[in-house]
Amino acid sequence: MMSGPRKRAPKNVAVIDPDHCFGALACSICQAACPIENCIIEEPDRDGRLVCAVRVDACIGCGLCVALGNETAPQPRDFGCPADYDAIDMMTYDDVVKSLEMVSEADVEANVSEVVGP
Ligand code: SF4
Ligand code: SF4
Repeated sequence: MMSGPRKRAPKNVAVIDPDHCFGALACSICQAACPIENCIIEEPDRDGRLVCAVRVDACIGCGLCVALGNETAPQPRDFGCPADYDAIDMMTYDDVVKSLEMVSEADVEANVSEVVGP
């Protein structure tokens, strides 16, 4: 989720794999670890299960939400996503923005073909 390019984007941001998230209501450790208000939100996955998701436009790239032992995190932390789930990785901001743009273009194309037909 994002809302336009940032003036000073971090080099890396956190990305949550919904398939690995234990569930936003059952866990939410990442939200407790994150220093930025409303940066990690709850979103339904493709099956309607509420999982956590990082707002790319809010993440500062601190890595405090990332599981202990996950080497993509930039700094030591006291806790993070449980290691059993290890649902969060740090990825480059540019790659995340590109993949979000590809997803939204695919959504637009799918909606157009739904309206126009094959
Ligand atoms: S990297 Fe930091 S700012 Fe970004 S979601 Fe994780 S804890 Fe929040
Ligand atoms: S800490 Fe990990 S498993 Fe728990 S809600 Fe966040 S992403 Fe999901």
